[in-house]
Amino acid sequence: MAISRKTVRPHALATLAIHGGDGPHVAGDPVVPPLVQSVNYVQEPGGDDNIMYTRYGNTPNAERIQKRIALLEGAEAALMLSSGMGATACGLLALLRPGDHLLASQFIYGGTRRLFLEEFTQMGIDVTLVDPFEPRAWRRRLRKETRAIFIESPVNPTCRVLDMRGVSLLTKELGIALVVDSTFASPVNFRPLEHGADVVIHSATKFLNGHHDILGGIVCGTVPYIDEVKQKEIVWGQTPDPFACWLLERGLKTLDVRVKRQNESAMAIATWAEERKEVRRCYYPGLASHPDHEVAVDQLDGFGGMVAFELAGGGKAADRFARKLKLARYAASLGGVDTLVSEPRHSSHARLTPDERTHIGIPDGFIRLSVGLEDVGDIIADLEQALR
Ligand SMILES: *Cc1c(COP(=O)(O)O)cnc(C)c1O
Repeated sequence: MAISRKTVRPHALATLAIHGGDGPHVAGDPVVPPLVQSVNYVQEPGGDDNIMYTRYGNTPNAERIQKRIALLEGAEAALMLSSGMGATACGLLALLRPGDHLLASQFIYGGTRRLFLEEFTQMGIDVTLVDPFEPRAWRRRLRKETRAIFIESPVNPTCRVLDMRGVSLLTKELGIALVVDSTFASPVNFRPLEHGADVVIHSATKFLNGHHDILGGIVCGTVPYIDEVKQKEIVWGQTPDPFACWLLERGLKTLDVRVKRQNESAMAIATWAEERKEVRRCYYPGLASHPDHEVAVDQLDGFGGMVAFELAGGGKAADRFARKLKLARYAASLGGVDTLVSEPRHSSHARLTPDERTHIGIPDGFIRLSVGLEDVGDIIADLEQALR
């Protein structure tokens, strides 16, 4: 079972994001590591040990990025996969067998929900979705077959923040794995292993890479667990291309400044939005009005680059608003340098009915904003002209 052991960081996060895992300086070495765009590597004739092959996740660009991200999360090991979904699928298939039971938060990414309810159940892995904000939510749904608890925090798109204390005590007590999708936070704002998680998952497509130009996923945990995940990655073919690893390494170098700037701009935008008469409600964990503000202050190092608000005019007003934007673009995905706007009812939550969406806190008129690195005054001016 994957039980986390804390590792000591040799440097602060901003430094690790640039240098983590680097070897000694050697004259003549390039400052920027080369992209080794090769699938195959010459071997010793006759030997079959240690074959380097891109799908095995053991080639130079993959190994560099894996070492670096493990250091950022404070994990023993990390694996980069070809997408966030690949990471979630392989990360959980390494923990669960047919007959096992998974408890998962009901506030999870739409693709993850489908994976659990449509694919895992077909494989004989039973999944129960739980409202994590109910008292004793997890304990009440436990079975003797429960092998893991899966949560996402902060939650897409309502920015709810789950308190890690109760759930991590429970998983420790039972000796089962606590798996956290930490995509929305990035290690700059939250490091789940420091709060009792055993496994951390990221869609590296979002904040970790930050430039809207690669698809990638990350799983972090102990060495034996990551070896298991790697076996899944290899046979299910979820390994990234070297170029994606190389681009992620480049994106990571600016992770700390990007996320801190996104935190600042998002706070300014949320404060502005909360005062607008066209906005019924603004959702940002940095606001005192947010239901999880205190948990967020306690647990997070930053409130994140995601802001949401509900327009008083409902779905029609939201569509109109989105069409009027000039700088912010209407597009799915998040976490990059460009400000993106989306309406969950047309994207991540399109498969739910309006009632189901309202029930989970996403009424029609709900706008999700992924705050980019543009000047915050320009972003607000754009939102303001679209609101009018
Ligand atoms: C985008 C996302 C995923 C899926 O990641 P992909 O890289 O698109 O496969 C999983 N979880 C969260 C929270 C996400 O935002």
